Amino acid sequence: MIEGDDMYKLECAQLFDGCPGVVEGETTDDVLTKAAAHAADAHGLSELDSETAEAVRNAIIAA
Ligand SMILES: [Zn+2]
Repeated sequence: MIEGDDMYKLECAQLFDGCPGVVEGETTDDVLTKAAAHAADAHGLSELDSETAEAVRNAIIAA
């Protein structure tokens, strides 16, 4: 349930020590998609395996 201007965000440092990247989106799936793109760009991960995707989901917080 999304209401108003609620947003979700992921601080990449939760997953990659020292990374200043922050990804925001309107839904957790949106954040996950953007996080995957960031991981590819910044960390050379061409795709997230299910374990990493799960860790990303767990690290997403309401902003
Ligand atoms: Zn990062």
